[in-house]
Amino acid sequence: MTTVANGDDAAALTGGCQCGAVRYRLAQPLARIHYCHCRMCQRAFGNVFSMFGSIPRAEVEFIKGAPKTYRSSTFAERGFCAECGTPLTFQYLARLERIGISVGSLDRPDLVQPEYHYGIESKVPWLVLADHLPQRRAAADPMLAELIAKAGPTQKS
Ligand SMILES: [Zn+2]
Ligand SMILES: [Zn+2]
Repeated sequence: MTTVANGDDAAALTGGCQCGAVRYRLAQPLARIHYCHCRMCQRAFGNVFSMFGSIPRAEVEFIKGAPKTYRSSTFAERGFCAECGTPLTFQYLARLERIGISVGSLDRPDLVQPEYHYGIESKVPWLVLADHLPQRRAAADPMLAELIAKAGPTQKS
């Protein structure tokens, strides 16, 4: 077991997109670092899961450029580099004081440690998880249910 505390190293506090048009600096380490297997993350990343960590929005400074955002559902928006498409951020519209940062956009994603799997009901069956981390269903998340309810009807998923 490694003893990395998520982002104690200053190198874990900077990141950006693939082309360099968007760069950010975090004033504190990411929390709740997790895999998300939901269908929206699968599409947004063009992959079978995403990875995000969470941080207060006020603790994120975009030091070069800024993500372009789009509503990925009635209750959330995602930010990405308008030049190269790298997925960068995720925010619940009813909880804009926090923001998710894509772990792969960190300069040193190797310095943080994932804590759990989320949206596990959408996980592709051929992906075998052997890491013993907790596996949480999005549908069983009371906070998500509340955020969807606040957003009102006609959400995509
Ligand atoms: Zn870019
Ligand atoms: Zn997701």
